[in-house]
Amino acid sequence: MIKIDKHSIIKPKILDNTWIAEKLNKIQDMPNPGDLITEKYNDKSVRTALNQLYRNKCAYCQGEAETAQYTSRIDHFRPKDKIKVNKKQIENHKGYYWLGYEWTNLLPTCEKCNNHKSNQFPLKEENSRISDNLAEEGFINEGEFQFDNFKITKLVKEQRLLLNPEIDDVDKHLYFLPTGEIRHITEEGETTIKIYDLNRGSLIFERKKIIDDIVRELISIFIKYEDNRNRMDEFFDKLNENNSDLKYSRFRFFIQNFFDFFIIQRFEDIGLSKHAQILKDIYKQRSV
Ligand SMILES: [Zn+2]
Repeated sequence: MIKIDKHSIIKPKILDNTWIAEKLNKIQDMPNPGDLITEKYNDKSVRTALNQLYRNKCAYCQGEAETAQYTSRIDHFRPKDKIKVNKKQIENHKGYYWLGYEWTNLLPTCEKCNNHKSNQFPLKEENSRISDNLAEEGFINEGEFQFDNFKITKLVKEQRLLLNPEIDDVDKHLYFLPTGEIRHITEEGETTIKIYDLNRGSLIFERKKIIDDIVRELISIFIKYEDNRNRMDEFFDKLNENNSDLKYSRFRFFIQNFFDFFIIQRFEDIGLSKHAQILKDIYKQRSV
């Protein structure tokens, strides 16, 4: 997960609130209004905008969301259907169906994160949850859905446990290890890892592979080049390039910034202490 600025992109026109207010007003008294949220939130213009913003990556795991073979999913951060907590549906709540077409509630995901999360949306305190009584919550006035009244600040009172890359400073909650695992600092981080299954085997494998590839590349530089300093400089220049387009860019950020812990330590671990020392010296010189 990496911080994303949604204000850097224009909200797709289809999510214009005039027809949405009308629609929500019609479905609000139905028993399962979430089922009546049509696929308009999944319009091509919405997916294109989200994929552009997230660079075709999943909002949660940073793996590929949109590829030549697969189309990205759009996750309702707050579920539009009945909510699950601890795998049980909570009672007396129809879900956040009124956020079914809300731009700030739509995030692109890969299939796995989307399936793992399903309709889960746990809070620290269940009683801080915004009810589905929209009149009471100020979303309906004189029978009309007041979409303009929707304020993200209204949602802040909910003590949510799932991190949102568009709102939260994820660095305060999550960090990585050279093993490819992700670790939590806070309860929110812990819940987020669990609900999106961010330590699933395939993700650990993919993240660790980035380190393995770097180590392999460095070893080949050591082997092939007698005077390897220029090649090393090229390597470090490439390593430190802006990699925000690449998969798992936050993990790569950790490799860039904790090179000692993520890469040099590996050389020590595999008994290449001399090479570790050379890397340490180059790294130190370059950091000056
Ligand atoms: Zn994912």
